[in-house]
Amino acid sequence: MVTGADGQRWLFDPGSLCLELLLTGGPAESGRPELLRTPADLVGWLTESRLARTAEVHRRQVDVRPSELRRIKELRDIAWRVMTTLARGGDPAPEQLEAINDYAQDSIHPELEPSTRTVRWAPMTGEQVLGTIARDAIDVIGGSVSRLRECAGEDCSLLFLDTSRPGNRRWCSMRRCGNREKVRAFRSRTRNDDPR
Ligand SMILES: [Zn+2]
Repeated sequence: MVTGADGQRWLFDPGSLCLELLLTGGPAESGRPELLRTPADLVGWLTESRLARTAEVHRRQVDVRPSELRRIKELRDIAWRVMTTLARGGDPAPEQLEAINDYAQDSIHPELEPSTRTVRWAPMTGEQVLGTIARDAIDVIGGSVSRLRECAGEDCSLLFLDTSRPGNRRWCSMRRCGNREKVRAFRSRTRNDDPR
């Protein structure tokens, strides 16, 4: 769930872990409020992130230090700038991409619960979470960048991967920005049709 500046909440899946992190804040120019004030905030975000599609993330499994949270936010700022530049057809600075490489050292990993043979997450540190997010950013930038979009809605700059087959998705959500645009187009059409 995403909350807009107007307080409306809507469902939005940006399509990748790194892009999900961009919903939690960003550099000042992103205009996004900070949702990760403490390590516990980050852990809460992880439990609700797309990692939970692989296996449930339990709070007790995640150990994040304040210094690690700081680095995750540094990565978030860089990723926000790089992804926004790319979605607008620009070229990010090479130093920004090298910084993402530097963060991509470590990684969380799944493992098997021996008695049930189901998948669970191995205990994870903030450094591993940082690396996993950076690796996801590398996948997006190096692999899926042609599908990276910025929502075309007015006052909306949410970034997402367009997974529609024709690749023509324009909105973060049809029910939010798509619908607002439809209403706007309808109003301007009826205004133009009105001879007075
Ligand atoms: Zn939007």
